Parts: sequence; C-alpha cells; structure tokens
Amino acid sequence: MALRIVLLGPPGAGKGTHAKILSERHNIPHISTGDILRSQIQAQTPLGKKAKSFIDNGKLVPDDLVIEMVAHRLDLPDVKNGFILDGFPRTVEQAKALGEMLTSRKMPLSSVLEFDTSEDVIVSRISGRRACPNCGTNYHVENIPPKREGICDKCGTALIQRKDDKPETIRERLKVYHDQTEPLVQFYDGKKLLRIVNGNLEIAPLQKELALQIGL
Ligand code: AMP
Repeated sequence: MALRIVLLGPPGAGKGTHAKILSERHNIPHISTGDILRSQIQAQTPLGKKAKSFIDNGKLVPDDLVIEMVAHRLDLPDVKNGFILDGFPRTVEQAKALGEMLTSRKMPLSSVLEFDTSEDVIVSRISGRRACPNCGTNYHVENIPPKREGICDKCGTALIQRKDDKPETIRERLKVYHDQTEPLVQFYDGKKLLRIVNGNLEIAPLQKELALQIGL
C-alpha cells in the first residue's frame, strides 16, 4: 500500500530530518514546501520573488501560491508510490485544498504524524541548525554535525544559518504555528488520521516510534 504521509509540527520539531530518512527507506519523495520555496528564491523565479519577504519575516507565504505549487508537485509521476509532505499543509485552507487534490487524484492520505515537541527542544534544535546553501542538506552543530566543521559533507560548500532561524524570526514562526497551523491537529483528528509522536526523542528512537505509528 502506498504510504502517503503528512508531517505536522512546529519549526525545529525534526520533521525535515525524519522525512529524509523515511523517504530514503521507503523510496518515496520528500516534499518540503520550505525547500521548494527556498530553491525558487535562489533561482529568482517570479514565485521566489513573491515568497521571499514572507519567509524572511517568519510569515506564511499566501495560501493560493503554496497550494498551486503543491498541486504541480503532486502531478509528477514519482508520487505514484506515495510521498511525505513536510511543512504542508500549514493552514486549514491548505488542508482542505490538499484533501480535494488527493481525492481527485485518488490518493488518500495514510496518516498525519504530529511531532509533539517542547519549546526548549525546539529552540535548541533551531539555534544549532546549519544548512548547505548549495545542496540543501541540513545539519545540527551537536546532533548531526558535518565531518568537517562548517563544511557540507556532500558538496564541500560552507554551511550557513538560515536567515529565518534567527531568534526574533523563530519567535514569529512559533507564533504563526500556534495561530495558524495548530488547528490542523483537530482537523485531522476529526478525520481519524492523526497520530502523535514524541518529538523530543533523539533520532533513532523517534524513527522507531514513527515506524510503529505508520504500521511498518
Ligand atoms: P520550513 O522550511 O518548512 O520551516 O518553511 C520555511 C518558510 O517557508 C516558512 O516559515 C514559510 O514562510 C514558508 N512556507 C513553507 N511551507 C509553507 C506553507 N505550507 N504555507 C505557507 N508558507 C510556507
């Protein structure tokens, strides 16, 4: 059965890290709307230009732009065996649009996994997070350090801290999460799709919990 998963949780909860692992293990695409938007910004596309100031200020990119972007992504052939959505949906409007897209493509969701994570853990994960501006690989100075400090293992590029990972922007992103994304917990609970995992766990035990929750 195709695995079609949504990962839900605040920034810094570990969604990206676990999405990458699950994607490699099950050979299904990791669809991160944040990654797609950042690559659009880097390529200076019209979408990237529209999205940049929202992202830099920790705000959500408008629903219509993100929904259209995801609809195109779900039309690519690699989603036929499943997918992991990371960072989408983030509003009830996006969740409703996703529901319609998946119904019309006859691709029902398997589950929505909520990463229940404490604020302390979030702050420590985000402040130590480093990213490769070239290939997008993520690191953490303590939890997932690169082999050579400050240098990407995969492509040798100097790592950076994401502009929106600065303390004042993190505060805004957490507020946006509570105000606009947290209502999705109830939304998906009502659809009997919600599973809660302990986002405070280290990578290996959390992978085990995720495997249990998705029935693998
Ligand atoms: P992320 O990498 O998931 O933390 O996303 C980084 C930023 O991209 C967010 O703070 C938003 O500005 C934007 N973004 C990513 N996904 C969405 C989405 N589903 N809806 C609106 N904005 C998004």
